Amino acid sequence: MNNFNSHRTLILNSTFQPLSIASAKRSVALLLSKKINVLKESNLQIRSENEIITVPKVALLTYYVKAPYARRVALNRSNIFIRDFNTCQYCGSSAESIDHIIPKSKGGENVWSNVVACCKRCNLIKADKLLSQTILKLKNFPIKPEGNFWIKTIIGSNPDPEWKEYLISA
Ligand SMILES: [Zn+2]
Repeated sequence: MNNFNSHRTLILNSTFQPLSIASAKRSVALLLSKKINVLKESNLQIRSENEIITVPKVALLTYYVKAPYARRVALNRSNIFIRDFNTCQYCGSSAESIDHIIPKSKGGENVWSNVVACCKRCNLIKADKLLSQTILKLKNFPIKPEGNFWIKTIIGSNPDPEWKEYLISA
């Protein structure tokens, strides 16, 4: 049971679309209540009452879940990093912070179209200035993520490699 606490099970909606990530405990509970079918087993086993249960790595819900709650993506650091592929939107190197394109001090809002992931160096150049006052140029115009983006935010930036074949629709 060494990795019981860190285990993550990918739960797919009955349509095979990724829906959520469950802990080992939660996925076993879903399994015992017959709410999921196992698509891929992990090497993690737990004893429940009289049986040994293999914790799933990937499982399919036996019913369809409408997930409107998940479709609203929160504007936060980690989701901005996911949208911007962890890269600085000014120079393309690895991002370490968030920049407000129009600085807050100049009335810039905390909205998807005014925030980008950015590296330390560009953040220092940009500081509290407007983009036109610097040498920096945006690589992409930042937009509010839509569509299936929320799935990426659930899966996070380090999905289990064994989920790969099930994440095609994400
Ligand atoms: Zn940069």
